[in-house]
Amino acid sequence: MQVAGFALIPLDISDFPTRHNRGLALTQNHIERILAAWVEELGVPIYRGREVTSFIQEDAGVDVTVSDGSSLRAQYLVGCDGGRSLIRKQAGIAFAGWDPSVSYLIAEADMAEEPVWGVRLGEKGINALAKFDGTRVRMVLIEPHVVHGDEPTLGELRAALSAVYGTDFGVHNVTWLSRFSDMARQAESYRERRVLLAGDAAHVHSPAGGQGLNIGVQDAVNLGWKLAQVIQGTSPESLLDTYQSERHPIGARVLKNTLAQTALARGDERTRALHERFTELLQLDEPRKRYAGMMSGLDVSYDLGVGHPLLGRRMPDLDLVTEGGSRRVFSLLHDARPVLINLAEPGALDSAPWANRLQHVDARYAGAWELPVLGVVASPSAVLIRPDGYVAWVGDGTDQGLRAALTTWFGAPGLL
Ligand SMILES: Cc1cc2nc3c(=O)[nH]c(=O)nc-3n(C[C@H](O)[C@H](O)[C@H](O)COP(=O)(O)OP(=O)(O)OC[C@H]3O[C@@H](n4cnc5c(N)ncnc54)[C@H](O)[C@@H]3O)c2cc1C
Repeated sequence: MQVAGFALIPLDISDFPTRHNRGLALTQNHIERILAAWVEELGVPIYRGREVTSFIQEDAGVDVTVSDGSSLRAQYLVGCDGGRSLIRKQAGIAFAGWDPSVSYLIAEADMAEEPVWGVRLGEKGINALAKFDGTRVRMVLIEPHVVHGDEPTLGELRAALSAVYGTDFGVHNVTWLSRFSDMARQAESYRERRVLLAGDAAHVHSPAGGQGLNIGVQDAVNLGWKLAQVIQGTSPESLLDTYQSERHPIGARVLKNTLAQTALARGDERTRALHERFTELLQLDEPRKRYAGMMSGLDVSYDLGVGHPLLGRRMPDLDLVTEGGSRRVFSLLHDARPVLINLAEPGALDSAPWANRLQHVDARYAGAWELPVLGVVASPSAVLIRPDGYVAWVGDGTDQGLRAALTTWFGAPGLL
């Protein structure tokens, strides 16, 4: 359904040029289950029930100590260990930003009395009580004062209910109780030599707009193939610097938009008036598209130099015609290898020196090239797509710049 929104102002993306022009509600336990199954399919071991307790960085690798007393040797260590990341702290990476202005309780429970269902606006934002599974209640409540720490008590839940509704509705049988806030912090660096950070370890912010998991997964997808190439020796270590230069600005932008959303969610009359004006503004086509592009993450673009608007942007999932039949562009990305799509005469481009690490596809495409937010762009004669789905080079009828782009992103020719 259409769930993209800014400060709870709905943003319709049904006219976006993407196959998935809507939100898909998939709870995080399912996302984790699906990703874990995929990791297993790739034969990568997962050591469950063991925590990293410390690590030592050396010139050639990282020695990682885990809670059962054993140790692991790695060439690189990626801290995906959440907002309180031990990896980030031990690497000495600063986590700069803004302290929380509001803290929330989120809970699932029974109530002896019928509560007031739906949304109730408070001074600092929104409270909500929703029916779940027939009789159970799921709730999000603003706490009377900002509280730190992630182990709230039943007493605190009762106090928050009473502060908002004047009664705790006889809340009992609490099966889930947690706390979150609008604290916004970002790692100053996503890399410290052989240690890298991704996901909440690199950035935390208010859940407004549901962006955290999304950008965390994008971090990992941006980093994965680069790290693989460095480990395999096809690319120099400097390729990892582009992880910072590409992903840090995206995280910084998300932090700022969550600060703005928290401010706009306040319940005083002046802020409500501002929210109403903003709602009007976001009904206009151009602002709606811009904000929907930002909130859905479909407008992400990396600064890969000047040139065609496709450069540094997410490749559209076009239906190509190839010698072997019709192919969707995204199906070509399933192997997580770079793809060169030549849309001119077959054989017009020479990528032979990179043949061992590149898929070269001769194809035809007659339709329009339309990008989210930007609209229709000039049809290119060829595109080079990175394994993360972003365009690294655009052909203008010649192969000018192709060798340089191949070398920059996928290493010098014939190395492996
Ligand atoms: C109320 C709420 C609603 C949200 N809604 C959305 C939404 O709709 N859409 C969205 O995109 N995002 C949403 N988010 C944000 C999203 O939940 C987070 O951004 C996401 O969970 C971050 O994933 P992560 O893997 O980086 O970190 P985490 O989910 O925190 O996972 C870190 C993992 O590392 C493990 N770990 C920690 N320390 C160690 C250690 N020393 N050794 C080994 N393992 C360790 C932990 O056990 C945990 O499994 C929401 C957040 C909140 C609070």
